[in-house]
Amino acid sequence: MKVIEHLNQAKKPLISFEILPPLKGKSIQSIYDSIDPLMEFKPSFINVTYHREEFVYKKREKGYLEKISIKKRPGTVGICAAIMNKYQVDAIPHIICGGFTKEETENALIDLNFLGIDNVLALRGDPIKTETNFVPEEGGHAYAVDLVKQIVGLNKGEYFDEDLLNATPTDFCIGVAGYPEKHFESPSFKNDLKHLKQKVDAGAEYITTQLFYDNEKFKSFVIACREAGINVPIIPGLKPISNKNQLLSLSKFFHIDIPDDLVEAIEACKNDNAVRQVGIEWAIEQSKDLIDFGVPCIHYYTMGKSISTREIVKAIY
Ligand code: FAD
Repeated sequence: MKVIEHLNQAKKPLISFEILPPLKGKSIQSIYDSIDPLMEFKPSFINVTYHREEFVYKKREKGYLEKISIKKRPGTVGICAAIMNKYQVDAIPHIICGGFTKEETENALIDLNFLGIDNVLALRGDPIKTETNFVPEEGGHAYAVDLVKQIVGLNKGEYFDEDLLNATPTDFCIGVAGYPEKHFESPSFKNDLKHLKQKVDAGAEYITTQLFYDNEKFKSFVIACREAGINVPIIPGLKPISNKNQLLSLSKFFHIDIPDDLVEAIEACKNDNAVRQVGIEWAIEQSKDLIDFGVPCIHYYTMGKSISTREIVKAIY
């Protein structure tokens, strides 16, 4: 079932979870172990992130360093199919522009369609470690909006090979990313909003946001979206903090602010257990306030660690 149908039919705010594929070589059991404790809360859908290849240097004989490309977390599509099969819940693969030509994207979408996957989250992807700025694949897309357009085209039966006759259209529901605190590359909040609107105008049916810890920023973002004519559902993304290092890493990696009250509460903690408890309580308060604000769904970034998410969802639903 499509995300937009889940949202339209909902009688109360929904929940969804996001997981990431295990490191290459690990079994799919690690995915089941992180999902099993959450299934009693009946998530409407589960997102599975996509991870690009990375370049690493491998030491060879006589100190020679060979630069090779490896994918550390493959398996997004297979995990989606396995989740749908095992739990009968909709799984949403993230698909990205980076590293894909348009034809490779089309072939990936055909795979998803054949697997009965109805939804995709269309993203550009971040620059890889060896890039200072995002570099599109030759013959690929530079922005998520172009990926959205390609999927919308495929939904109309417009394949990359325009000579295909009687091509079967796909029917994907497309989600895109939004940034309550602005995307880090964007020169201004307003400019970022303009590009978000382009994704929605191109055919995206809902927005899932970057994680945030200050609900006021999310609320201002929703108001600004509505004023800009972006009228699709906006799903807030929450991630409970679980260790002190995240104070630095989350703000650095995701380009977000962490409110002073939360920083102080975490700094005062004596150990990781105490930090986890503060993170859980903060996310519970965020969730309650977002539900009062009228969000259609809350998306929890579990990143394979279900303990905190379970405590939060148990307290809310
Ligand atoms: P875009 O919408 O293309 O925007 C990127 C930047 O370009 C923005 O600054 C925007 O304002 C600007 N821009 C957009 N269009 C134009 C234009 N036409 N002209 C000029 N500027 C433009 N990354 C992964 O690699 N894998 C994942 O699974 C993944 N999942 C994510 C899930 C969510 C919910 C979120 C919020 C992010 C996720 N990301 C993931 C990270 C995401 O790929 C990065 O944040 C990336 O840097 C931007 O992606 P985007 O789709 O928002 O890009």
